[in-house]
Amino acid sequence: MKASASTSTKSRRPKGRAPGTFAPRTNAPAAVLILFDIDGTLVLTGGAGGRAMSLAFEELFAIPSAFQGIPMAGRTDTWILADAALMHGIPAHDPRLARFPETYLRHLASELDQPSALRKGLMPGVRELLEALAPRTDVYLALLTGNYEAGARLKLEYFDLWRYFSCGAFGDDAPHRNVLVPKALARVAECGGPAFAAADALVIGDTPLDVGCAAIVGARSLAVATGSHSVDQLRTAGADIVMQDLSDTEEVVRLICSWK
Ligand SMILES: [Mg+2]
Repeated sequence: MKASASTSTKSRRPKGRAPGTFAPRTNAPAAVLILFDIDGTLVLTGGAGGRAMSLAFEELFAIPSAFQGIPMAGRTDTWILADAALMHGIPAHDPRLARFPETYLRHLASELDQPSALRKGLMPGVRELLEALAPRTDVYLALLTGNYEAGARLKLEYFDLWRYFSCGAFGDDAPHRNVLVPKALARVAECGGPAFAAADALVIGDTPLDVGCAAIVGARSLAVATGSHSVDQLRTAGADIVMQDLSDTEEVVRLICSWK
């Protein structure tokens, strides 16, 4: 296994602990809730998501390349659409906006099958990590993503990853990622999972917005530089742990479980 993990620590960690490990917690609950981001963390779709959004917007509003200049990484689909509507002078009550998700999903299903010059596939070590975590009783796997839930499902089913997750928080739950950790906790409980507190949750993502949505509620973050941000950028954003990628399965599992 590749041992290329680059780790960072935050100043709030107690001194004397090995770098790259979470602080030990007293009275720790029996399990860790792991909340995976999708794009840039588990997979890259070769730009299918961005193309599908653009095609859907053009179909509904006859405006091509509507998302040019609008950042997408780490943001929810709801937020991205609202930005595009604002940019192009479309009022929030325009009924066509309500049809955007279904239109986008139709294009996404088609675009996922298209060849692309952009990177398309699982990020390094993702399948091996999910296979290693799935049978464990001390972790619970769920999603925290800006994708519409149906879009998340399309993307993950395309790569045969949907089956690893029982539920999650999605871009149609709220426009801003910062409220998605509490949504995920509630969703896990609704799904019959354990009653987790935010402090039991570990967000794994590829952007400062993933890091931020964890920090704001007292959850932890493991950031990976397989998406649109570098190790240094993720470190600056304050991630609890930063790794180049998830390819060192043994080390990632150790980091995830070491704070129990
Ligand atoms: Mg991402």
